[in-house]
Amino acid sequence: MKFADLHLHTQFSDGTFTPEELAGHGASLGFATLALTDHDTVEGCARMAAACAAAGIEFIVGAELTAEYEHTEVHILGYFLDTRNQTLLTEISRFQAVRQQRIHEMVALLNKLNVPLKAESVFALANCKSPGRPHVARALVKAGLVASLDEAFERFLKKNRPAWVPKAKVSALEGIDLIHQAGGLAVMAHPGLNRTDEIIPALADAGLDGIECFHTKHSAALSARYLEIADRFHLLVTGGSDCHGFSKGKPLIGGIKLPYEHIEKLKAARENRKSKIENRK
Ligand code: AMP
Ligand code: ZN
Ligand code: FE
Ligand code: FE
Repeated sequence: MKFADLHLHTQFSDGTFTPEELAGHGASLGFATLALTDHDTVEGCARMAAACAAAGIEFIVGAELTAEYEHTEVHILGYFLDTRNQTLLTEISRFQAVRQQRIHEMVALLNKLNVPLKAESVFALANCKSPGRPHVARALVKAGLVASLDEAFERFLKKNRPAWVPKAKVSALEGIDLIHQAGGLAVMAHPGLNRTDEIIPALADAGLDGIECFHTKHSAALSARYLEIADRFHLLVTGGSDCHGFSKGKPLIGGIKLPYEHIEKLKAARENRKSKIENRK
């Protein structure tokens, strides 16, 4: 049985593995296919592609966009993206600028609370273009200002805590279009985590291609529910561990094994979309 993990993060966003380490784990766990879905970036994909090729693993280029639809936060996964697509790269660099600005704002709030963290130390630790709250938390631990990542989130960084800054998000419809114009398929990430059930019909209408039915935080009952919803709205089925390396305890890769038949359906849908675009030219 061939299987895949289509939701993975590296050091190019808030994961702790390099692409090579991640591909190594994938190989030892017997994965046929992996997709890299770092937040708001495709930068790690070239290295991940090379590492997967060396390990005999099929690789799918991906990214995870933080979007919203009528005030509901929704994460949109893009697959089979053209990493040279100019519009995609321009938009992604805008999202990254927003993330970097938000780091400055969170550090300013911490400083007001007499927590002497420097923005430079967060950027140095993150060492990537898509920094986020996990990097602020790690920098706080590293500077000895909190004892643990949990303490950093509980005291300062969780939603509505004193150093939390809401993130400006792309509209879900724009996110879907952005992925499509870059040759990709758009998939709703972990619907069970963001409670985005109500917006599935609207996004399906707007061209959403699939939903992530299998995810580390979906119970068997939730996965079954999303398989049924995918069937009802003629959406593709995906799944992934959302592994962030060691940043959230033990690595999650290996916990989700998406049967390969879903990869075949994704590829067919991608080809179908491609030929539709070709015909329009
Ligand atoms: P951001 O994209 O900057 O808002 O950060 C979101 C990341 O922070 C996600 O990877 C979350 O899993 C992680 N995160 C959110 N809340 C917590 C928490 N309480 N403890 C640890 N990580 C968290
Ligand atoms: Zn993340
Ligand atoms: Fe997510
Ligand atoms: Fe993720």
